[in-house]
Amino acid sequence: MNNKPKKPKKPIVFYYLIALAVLMVLNALVFPQYLSSSLEEVDYGTFLKMVDEGKVISAVVETDQVRFEAVDDDGRKHIYQSNIVANTELSDRLYNAGVKYGQDLPKEINPIFSFILSWILPIVMLVFIGQLLSRRMGGMNAMSFGKSGAKIYAENETGKTFADVAGEDEAKDALREIVDFLHDPKKYADIGAALPKGALLVGPPGTGKTLLAKAVAGEAKVPFFSISGSEFVEMFVGMGAAKVRDLFKQANEKAPCIVFIDEIDTIGKKRGGIIEGGNDEREQTLNQLLTEMDGFDANKGVVILAATNRPESLDKALLRPGRFDRRIPVELPDLAGREAILRVHAKDVKMGENIDFNAVARATSGASGAELANIVNEAALRAVRMGRGEVSQEDLEESVEVVIAGYQRKNASISRHEKEIVAYHEVGHALVAARQSNSAPVHKITIIPRTSGALGYTMQVEEDERFLMSKDEAFNKIATFTGGRAAEELIFGSVTTGAANDIEQATRIARAMVTRYGMSEEFDMTALETVTNQYLGGDTSLMCSAETAAKVDAEVVALIRKAHEKAVGILKNDMAKLHELAGYLLEKETITGEEFMRILKSE
Ligand code: ADP
Ligand code: MG
Ligand code: ZN
Repeated sequence: MNNKPKKPKKPIVFYYLIALAVLMVLNALVFPQYLSSSLEEVDYGTFLKMVDEGKVISAVVETDQVRFEAVDDDGRKHIYQSNIVANTELSDRLYNAGVKYGQDLPKEINPIFSFILSWILPIVMLVFIGQLLSRRMGGMNAMSFGKSGAKIYAENETGKTFADVAGEDEAKDALREIVDFLHDPKKYADIGAALPKGALLVGPPGTGKTLLAKAVAGEAKVPFFSISGSEFVEMFVGMGAAKVRDLFKQANEKAPCIVFIDEIDTIGKKRGGIIEGGNDEREQTLNQLLTEMDGFDANKGVVILAATNRPESLDKALLRPGRFDRRIPVELPDLAGREAILRVHAKDVKMGENIDFNAVARATSGASGAELANIVNEAALRAVRMGRGEVSQEDLEESVEVVIAGYQRKNASISRHEKEIVAYHEVGHALVAARQSNSAPVHKITIIPRTSGALGYTMQVEEDERFLMSKDEAFNKIATFTGGRAAEELIFGSVTTGAANDIEQATRIARAMVTRYGMSEEFDMTALETVTNQYLGGDTSLMCSAETAAKVDAEVVALIRKAHEKAVGILKNDMAKLHELAGYLLEKETITGEEFMRILKSE
């Protein structure tokens, strides 16, 4: 999320126009006689009459015209002009009437003031405009080292508190100490305790790391400097380092405050090793960051938070004591956490009565906070589409499927035969799952096609949160994944491409059982693979000899074959139910877990 306010840049012309307008107005004020309206033309006779009446105060007589100041009928002073017809005894006449003549007419403005307006002000304005321009150019000038022009944005109120973050209690506890420190740094300084300078929030995307950082600032009521790692890596060499320097300078001035570096892995990647082109800049930036972190005094009250979802790629130097030595895991929410997150986001939405958040939470195992927020929003959108004023349970359940599997493809034309295959396939999964006592019961089976390309799917629901999986359970899970294909084989005697995803999942579990969980006879407790990318997909890399790798493959194949046979066996013993359930599903397109169990249990 990028929350910097975009101050629209006005074109330079804009400033010039303003300056021009101001100068014109000033001109009119200073030299009003040049404005035609203020110089009134009268005939010579009127002029002479006004002289005799004593209305003229002063006059300037030229060869063929006279300009004069006189009091008009309303008693206001005015400047007039008249042509002179015959220059007879004009001086005497003026003298007799007591008119000052022979000197210039008074300006209507105090001369000192007019001097300021007409000379000093334009100069001041020119200087001002010049500065404005040079500041705008600053960010683009590669020569101005040290002035990065980084618009590092400090939010004084993030508007978030810990109440906005549901679940994640451990992370909140760890951060609460930092909040307390920011409230009262002196308390810590007095006793001589140095709080960690930095804390690193690690976890999968969308689990609320950015949100937590903002909440810390909100709770402590301190300014929040936020910058994303990618913003350090700029076009010009040296700019990244300059930005780091600027950032810490500003933060020091505003202490106590929080500096938040999002996606720190972009600059904090391990240094050295393979020479890549153009990572010099990144390295410089990282070095600068390390220097600044070492340099500043933690007791001043500057706390640096950073977030990443690839902690394993971070340079070890960043994690050293005195730097980001505190590591705060922000994991995917558990059942209670998911329910709490749903409730937090439901607060902003008009919800119907008797919403079962727990049921939604149970159906969304593995979803991140961001996905759950999205589910609530999708439900609200659906309610609007349906012309309702509040969100119903059905909206929520449908939006779970939308977020998991995409929108319904209502007009997809699928042949009767294909629908049959899909129905038997899905019931195959569900039946195998239900007949293996340890497998989770189904929540819903549907054969309505989705935009994700799925023609149908079985939603399994875990009754309660599980953290461990036994060897048997893992094996049964593989069997459930093979159940779809097994049903196709039994009923149609042929197989389809529909099982591609099942195959992938079954293989993933089987491989992990052999290489990481020590669940095979052959390899005992040997680690044969390591996870390289814990939070992003969990990629693994092999770490064994080629011969062992070949044996691992054989073991995995054997495991899946055994599970597949088990699934076929279960379905063979249950053909009647398979036909009955598939027929029912074909007719209804969607059946719930209760309907499924009712049919399964009926005689
Ligand atoms: P991350 O930085 O970990 O990728 P974010 O903090 O950007 O995730 O979270 C994205 C959005 O997901 C948040 O703005 C919030 O709406 C929602 N969200 C994520 N986790 C939570 C949570 N624990 N409680 C409430 N909302 C959450
Ligand atoms: Mg984030
Ligand atoms: Zn399947």
